[in-house]
Amino acid sequence: MQAVGVIGAGQMGAGIAQVSAQAGYRVLLTDVDKPRAEAGKAGIARQLDRAVEKGKLDPQVRDQALARIEPIEGVAGMSACGLVIEAATEREEIKRTIFARVGEVLGHQAILASNTSSIPITRLAQASPDPARFIGVHFFNPVPVMGLIEVIRGLATADTTVKTIETYAAALGKQVVHANDAPGFIVNRVLMPMLNEACFALGEGVATIRDIDLACQLGLNHPMGPLTLADFIGLDTCLEITRVLFEGTGDPKFRPAPLLVKYVEAGWYGRKTKRGFYDYSGDTPVPTR
Ligand code: NAD
Repeated sequence: MQAVGVIGAGQMGAGIAQVSAQAGYRVLLTDVDKPRAEAGKAGIARQLDRAVEKGKLDPQVRDQALARIEPIEGVAGMSACGLVIEAATEREEIKRTIFARVGEVLGHQAILASNTSSIPITRLAQASPDPARFIGVHFFNPVPVMGLIEVIRGLATADTTVKTIETYAAALGKQVVHANDAPGFIVNRVLMPMLNEACFALGEGVATIRDIDLACQLGLNHPMGPLTLADFIGLDTCLEITRVLFEGTGDPKFRPAPLLVKYVEAGWYGRKTKRGFYDYSGDTPVPTR
């Protein structure tokens, strides 16, 4: 594969760009504007610097990986990419607009993949240049650490498209699971109701943030509590996924918790805005309730 294009240089896009570059791919990284794409690359540099400081990464390998990542303006430069991965904000109209732009430049053999957490792949494929070469590749956060990719084929996705993604995933050292194109796929279908329920519990005054998280951490042997995890994923993303589950199934068990909606309305998205269920402005996260 010649190069990988990554659209969206936020948490996920930057992670995908990083692991792709570390696997030897040339990466073109874009966002709403070039400064944001550059900020994405700067974040990757900080991650790699930290790995070097800890003695986990050779400085030369860091430099080589960084040299493979080129922040660009728009998607026009992605015409030579064999794979373009969209990792922009979880809003369908944003993704549709992006696909229309990618359609103007995507090579005839190239694959367009979406990292969507929850939007149906078959529906998104309709906005893509060629549904046979469209597929869901759902990475997990933080991308460099998490070893899984959920691969979701739409109704029209070709076998060759699946094979190309399997080869790419193997190059990245990630395990693949195949999920059908159902709301939330596998992981979010199971995870989001738990995070949403933790928000209900907090909103209903069942317990404090600290106690809900500690209860699940120690009582369920989870590496982190659900409110910490929701902050980490991004409360805006959690809400969007929960809405897709609710609307996609029509099942009231997936209705978003009012407190989750409120936090998102307040712009408290979690770690990325320095405030969610915890306050991240200091050295250690402090529960806000
Ligand atoms: P984020 O908010 O950190 O990053 C999204 C980025 O997309 C931002 O930098 C934003 O400026 C950019 N963007 C918005 N509109 C754009 C456009 N028109 N063109 C180019 N860039 C644009 O969000 P994220 O957590 O990185 O999520 C990105 C995608 O990955 C979403 O679809 C989300 O559902 C999915 N995802 C998220 C997680 C997670 O844990 N956060 C896990 C798996 C998948």
